[in-house]
Amino acid sequence: MQTTSYIELSESALRNNIDFLRNIIGSSCTLSSVVKGNAYGHGIEQFVPLAYNCGQRHFSVFSADEAYRVYTVTKGDCTILIMGYIDREDLRWAIEHDIEFFVFDIPRLEAAIETARSMNKPARIHLEIDTGMNRTGLDREEFKQAVRTMRKSMEHLVFEGFCTHLAGAESIANYVRIKEQIKQYNKRYKTLVQKQLLPNTRHAACSAGVMNYARTHFDMVRVGIMQYGLWPSKETFVAYVSRQPHKSDPLQRVISWKSRLMSTHEVKAGEFVGYGTSYLADADMRIGIVPVGYSQGYNRNLSNVGRVLLRGQRVGIVGLVNMNMLLLELTASPDAEPGDEVVLIGEQGDMSVSVSSFSELSSQLNYELLTRLPHNIPRHIIS
Ligand SMILES: *Cc1c(COP(=O)(O)O)cnc(C)c1O
Repeated sequence: MQTTSYIELSESALRNNIDFLRNIIGSSCTLSSVVKGNAYGHGIEQFVPLAYNCGQRHFSVFSADEAYRVYTVTKGDCTILIMGYIDREDLRWAIEHDIEFFVFDIPRLEAAIETARSMNKPARIHLEIDTGMNRTGLDREEFKQAVRTMRKSMEHLVFEGFCTHLAGAESIANYVRIKEQIKQYNKRYKTLVQKQLLPNTRHAACSAGVMNYARTHFDMVRVGIMQYGLWPSKETFVAYVSRQPHKSDPLQRVISWKSRLMSTHEVKAGEFVGYGTSYLADADMRIGIVPVGYSQGYNRNLSNVGRVLLRGQRVGIVGLVNMNMLLLELTASPDAEPGDEVVLIGEQGDMSVSVSSFSELSSQLNYELLTRLPHNIPRHIIS
C-alpha cells in the first residue's frame, strides 16, 4: 500500500559527513553516532545499517528500548551506549548484552553493582558528572561517594567511560559557563588519576563541542545532528565557514521527505481557501492538494507560510495545514497535475527546501522537526 509521503536517506551524504567529522577529530578519537529520537527521525532500522556501512561501530541512544533496536539491527556487533533511561528490569538485559550505560546518580550505581553481582557479570558503566548543566550527572559530593563505592566493587564493574555534557556549546554566549564545565571535568579526572581509578575513555563533546571546543574531544565524541548534515546552530556554521577559503557548507543533508500532488481545484477571486478565513484568494487561482498534514509531522505553524517544491519551482502553502492535507497555490504551475512529485524537504531541479527553512518559519528547532517525523513513514536508502 502506498503511504502519503516517504523519506529518502542518502548514503553518500552520510559518508561525506562522517568523513568530515572524522577528519576534525583525528584517528585517535572515536566517533559515536548518536541515534536517539529514532535517529533524529531518520529511522533507527534504516539509519544504523547505513552508518555501519560507513564504518561506524559505536552508537549512543537515550533509552534501553532504543538500545534494543540498535542491538537487533547490528546483531550485537557494535558498542551501544545508553545515555539516559533504563528501567530496573532492562538493566539486566543491558548487562547481559554488554550494553554500556551512563551512571549519573548513586541509585543507578548501586543498582548496576547489585545487578552485576547477581548476574556474575560486570556492568560496563560511564560515570557522568554534572559540571554545570544541572540536568543529569553526579555533583561533587556524589562523585566522591561514587568513587568510594566503585573502588570497593570493581570486580562487578568495567569503568568504560568518564563523561559530562556541555550546556550550550553551540553559542558563544555560553562561553564562560562551558569553560568552567571543562575546568570542572578536568579537575575531577585528576581525582580519578590520584585514586588510580582510570576510565577506558573520556568524553564530553556533542556536535557543537566538536566544532567549538577542540579541547573537549578527549577519546570520544558523541555526535548527533552533524552526522545528519545539519548544524547545531547557525552561529557554529558561520564560525566554521568563515575560517575556510571556500565559504561552502561541508555537510550534506542525509534526509529528504517527499509526497505527491493528490488533486487540484480552481478557486474564484474573493473566496476563502480551506478551513475558516485564514486565506482569501485575491485573484482567480489554482489550488493543489498534498496528502500530508500535521498528523504526518508537518508543522501547523507553517500554515500560509511554508514552501514546497513542485515541477522544479518553489510554491507556497495557502490556508491552514490540516490533519492530513496541505494546500498549495499553483497559479505559477498551470501544468501541475495529480501524481507530480512534491518535495517537502530536499531537492528538485536546482531548487532546495532546507530543514532550517522550517525552523525559520515555525520557530521549531531542526532537532525537533526531524524527531517528530512519524515512525510509520517509509524510509528508503538512496546512493
Ligand atoms: C543528544 C546528545 C548528544 C548529541 O548532540 P548533538 O548536538 O546532536 O550532536 C550528545 N550527548 C548527549 C548526552 C546527548 O544527549
